[in-house]
Amino acid sequence: MRLDLHMHTTASDGENTPAELVAMAREAGLDVIAITDHDSTDGVLPAREAAAREGASEWPRVLAGIELSAEEPPEPGSGKETGDDVHMLGYLLDLESRELQDELILFREDRYTRGERIVEKLAALGMPLQWERVLAAAGQDERKGAGGKPSIGRPHIARAMVEAGYVGSVREAFDLYIRNDGPAYVARRRLSPEDAVAMIHRAGGVAVLAHPGLLKDPRAMIERLVKAGLDGVEVYHPDNRSDLRLNLLAWAAAHDLIVTGGSDFHGRSTKSNRLGQENPPAEMVAALEARAARMR
Ligand code: AMP
Ligand code: ZN
Ligand code: FE
Ligand code: FE
Repeated sequence: MRLDLHMHTTASDGENTPAELVAMAREAGLDVIAITDHDSTDGVLPAREAAAREGASEWPRVLAGIELSAEEPPEPGSGKETGDDVHMLGYLLDLESRELQDELILFREDRYTRGERIVEKLAALGMPLQWERVLAAAGQDERKGAGGKPSIGRPHIARAMVEAGYVGSVREAFDLYIRNDGPAYVARRRLSPEDAVAMIHRAGGVAVLAHPGLLKDPRAMIERLVKAGLDGVEVYHPDNRSDLRLNLLAWAAAHDLIVTGGSDFHGRSTKSNRLGQENPPAEMVAALEARAARMR
């Protein structure tokens, strides 16, 4: 069985619609996928519909997922206004939880006005962008969901900057202007990693720390979040080096954490991640289901 439990659609900053992603997952020979958009679950049901369109049963199987954007407070004395991003994956959540969807609508409203403020900063730096081009980069045609604003992220702004010719690539847009604490950076509404775990639990989901390889001190974060009820850790991810993966497996065993993995695919022209590239062990699906059942 082949799986990939981390990918993004046009419901956030992925380039492909949920239906396109399902077709690509079939091509890649995947049996189980999880749609994990930033601060939105709106891609899950359209993906399920696409997976059930031909044939009687769903292929591939589509797990409900999300990637919540949390943040560490900046280090005291560092002079920085922004801490590091901490992303929390949520699996098997109740998509119809009104409390969850209301919170997500607020997050996306915040992302929208924050995006407009980044665009204002870029204009002040001599790089005016039309907001419509940012929205176009967010390609929201197939969005169906809880309503409110689309999940605007910096990659959408970066793509509009490339289109306008201000930078040569998305990476350059981040490095020069919109990286954390870059000249055009604007912070999002702050959510602590502990609150992200709690929010996923309230919606009946399983909370998994995403790509620990991007954190300054993965071990400290895991130990801290275990106290908050963390359920799992993403071991198989392109940004986790092989030595870290070995450590993560040991820490997961010590703390009874579920081990998960996925490609973090955002589209063929974003980063070099390929759909299905991690091919993590299949038993994690049953482990997630058992944990979710315990939660109810
Ligand atoms: P946001 O959620 O709007 O703060 O944007 C963060 C997203 O931008 C992350 O989830 C990544 O997908 C992407 N990202 C962050 N840093 C970079 C970078 N240096 N180059 C390209 N994409 C990045
Ligand atoms: Zn992303
Ligand atoms: Fe992430
Ligand atoms: Fe991701």
